[in-house]
Amino acid sequence: MITHAPPVGLTLMDVPIHDVTMEETVGWITRWIAGGGAHQIATVNPEFLIRAREQGDFRAVLHQAALCIPDGIGILWAARLRSGHLRERVAGSDLVPRIAREASDRGWRVFFLGAAPGVAEKAASVLAARYTGLQVAGCYAGSPALEDEEAIVRRVRSAHTDLLLVAYGAPRQDLWLARNLERTQAAVGVGVGGSFDFLAGVSRRAPRGVQRLGLEWLYRLIQEPWRWRRQLALPWFAWLVLLRRDAPPDSG
Ligand code: UDP
Repeated sequence: MITHAPPVGLTLMDVPIHDVTMEETVGWITRWIAGGGAHQIATVNPEFLIRAREQGDFRAVLHQAALCIPDGIGILWAARLRSGHLRERVAGSDLVPRIAREASDRGWRVFFLGAAPGVAEKAASVLAARYTGLQVAGCYAGSPALEDEEAIVRRVRSAHTDLLLVAYGAPRQDLWLARNLERTQAAVGVGVGGSFDFLAGVSRRAPRGVQRLGLEWLYRLIQEPWRWRRQLALPWFAWLVLLRRDAPPDSG
């Protein structure tokens, strides 16, 4: 059976989250790069959803994204509680190296946009060393500021980018992609959060064992305690899901 869109496994805070595995995600990317057009991928976690609940333009971006992948363990927990169907966690930080592997096999040109100066370059060179033949279309920190958009779009477009990775953190990276992906002429754009920082060694990812226990969020909080205010979104998310009070306040 040929399907034209990934299946939605759960709708939370009025945001559809797709039931895709890592390998299916790579399959969709492959199809979209072969077929052209502009396809945005968002890596959805509880912080995203709390933000989207309050911010209508961010919610609209997640609605029109081609793929909202279940990035956080909290999303899988909510799916179980709400009888949703999400088979596995597809973390953006795992997707980036997986994409790089596929890109090196298939000859896709990948552009690394965002993070602090020098970090995108470092992340790209780590991946290029791991996956020989990876075609790095470009690396640029740039900024998510509106006045820089035009120049960045031109840079990405003239690099003949197939796949654009944007690391400006949520929701900036996702809003940026919604405004500009089509103009860059890249077939796929992914908001990748802190993935370049992990690859470049700027921040450290939780060990696999901690990830498997579903405690990556706790590890991140211990590594980067300044995140505590943002991570208050987690208990708030759990509370809203448990009480089934997740509908956005402005959705009537
Ligand atoms: N970032 C950036 N410009 C900005 C804000 C953030 O380049 O104006 C980068 C930041 O350096 C980091 C990435 O965005 O590499 C992700 O930031 P954060 O860790 O806050 O996002 P998360 O992973 O939590 O979505």
